This record gives sequence, structure tokens and C-alpha cells, in this order.
Amino acid sequence: MGFDLHIHSNYSDGLYSPSVLVELGKEQGLTGLALTDHDTLNGLEEFRAAGEEAGVITIPGVEMTTQYQGEELHILGYRVDYYHDGLRCRLEKVIDTRIERAKEILKKLQRAGVDLCWDDLEKVCQDTRGRYIGRPHIYLALKKKEIIGEDPERAGFQYYLGPEGVAYVPHQELQTLEALDLISKAGGLPVLAHPGRLENLRMLKTLKGNGLAGIEVFHPTHSPEVRVELLRIADQLELFPTGGSDFHGTAGAAQMGAATVERRFIEVLL
Ligand code: AMP
Ligand code: MN
Ligand code: MN
Ligand code: MN
Repeated sequence: MGFDLHIHSNYSDGLYSPSVLVELGKEQGLTGLALTDHDTLNGLEEFRAAGEEAGVITIPGVEMTTQYQGEELHILGYRVDYYHDGLRCRLEKVIDTRIERAKEILKKLQRAGVDLCWDDLEKVCQDTRGRYIGRPHIYLALKKKEIIGEDPERAGFQYYLGPEGVAYVPHQELQTLEALDLISKAGGLPVLAHPGRLENLRMLKTLKGNGLAGIEVFHPTHSPEVRVELLRIADQLELFPTGGSDFHGTAGAAQMGAATVERRFIEVLL
């Protein structure tokens, strides 16, 4: 019953372990899953083993946060060799830079009078496997210290950490073209994630010329009209369409299977 090719585990900013994600996928009746943690491959071994055990098709993936002409593009890399030295080493450096960024965010928060320190952040990160850190960890620390309350609409995230927020620090770890190259060299297929959030897609031709192989068409944030338009663009530019829920395990956000892609679109990944 379809493939969910965009999910996050507790190796990046998701709640569940890769094995639990496979169990959840099986319960949902999904045929296949791709684990696409942000900037890390460390959950993939466990994910593949769990898939084999459960009889769920698993596709190794990663979601890389990249910069292209001042804009943040998220690039998914499917079917990567997750033991590839070049890719692993580069991602370790990306995570070093993420740690530095988190420290800068903390400084900005402190300057704005927010009482949050590195120790508070480390406490929250204890639930994360590996060194990954992102804004959701800082958000959880702000909630834990009750600096942000219930926040059902996540206004607190925007207020402190959003692009217009008190303590926003943009990413600068990785250029998009470098990410495309890294994924290709690791034997993977690069795909542009959730293009529906971008102002325009003028960059697609250049990205395709540099190895982009697909675009994410099916995503919980894409309306039916956006999906139709993206399918048309995918067809026109000979990019294969992918899809997934972007499940993080967060209450109130998209659940696993909330967006899926049919097998016929993604044979190239199997
Ligand atoms: P980062 O990669 O550190 O910039 O953090 C981005 C992550 O924050 C995304 O992958 C989402 O998991 C999460 N996120 C982004 N926007 C929001 C929001 N408005 N509310 C809650 N979480 C968010
Ligand atoms: Mn995330
Ligand atoms: Mn993303
Ligand atoms: Mn994602």
C-alpha cells in the first residue's frame, strides 16, 4: 500500500528509533519506507536490519540542508552507500558546524534575556543518538524550562527560532551543488525535498544538469493543485516523482503514511 520515503528517526530530530519506525510502517500497511534523517547516515544500518526482519522494503536515505543562491534547499539522497567514506566524513563536518550554530543560537537567546545554557541543551540531546543537533532540540529545551508553554500552534518555535525569530541563525554548512555531487559519488540519487515551499523552481534545470534525479511531489504540505503542477514539471524535466510524510513522531504534525508514493514512480530506487 504505497511507500513513505521521507521519515526521521532519533538519529536526527525524530522521536522514534529506526526499528520502531519500521514497526510503525508495517502496522500502517506500508510496502516500503526510506529513512531520511537530516545530515546523518548513522541510523541506516539499524533501519535496514529492522526492515529485513519485518518484511518491509527499506531504502537508505538522507536529507541534507543546503544553500543555493541565498535560499535553503533540502536535498534527499536515496540509495546512498551509507559506508561511503567521503560522504560520512563530510556529514561529520556538517554536524560540527551544526554544533557551532546551536552555540550561536544560544548566545542570541541569552542576549535576548532567555535563560538557557548548553547544559539544558545537552539534557534534551541525551535522547538523540549521535551528535546531531537542530532547532527542534533547542525548542524542546525551551519547553522543558517552561520558557515556552503548551504552544499547540508552535508559535513559540517561530518567535524564538523561525526565520524572523529572536535567535535565528541561518545554515551555511553545505552548498547544494556539493550535496548533489556527494550523493552521486556515494552511488545515490539526489531528489529535491518539498519544493512546494520554494518561491520559484527556476533552479531546477541547473540542478538537473548537476545530477538532480527527482523531485518530491507527494508531501503533506503540498495541496492537490501543487501536486499536479509538480508532476507536470517532473514529467517535463524527466525527474522522477517521490513522496513521503516527513514524519518526525511529533504530536500534531504529519503522521507516517500521510503522504506516500506509488511503486510505479520509484522503480529506479528498488
Ligand atoms: P534546523 O535543521 O536545525 O534548521 O531545524 C529544522 C527542523 O525544525 C525541521 O526539520 C523541522 O523538524 C523543525 N521545524 C521547522 N519549522 C518548525 C516549526 N514551525 N515548528 C516546529 N518544528 C519546526
Ligand atoms: Mn526535522
Ligand atoms: Mn526538509
Ligand atoms: Mn524532512
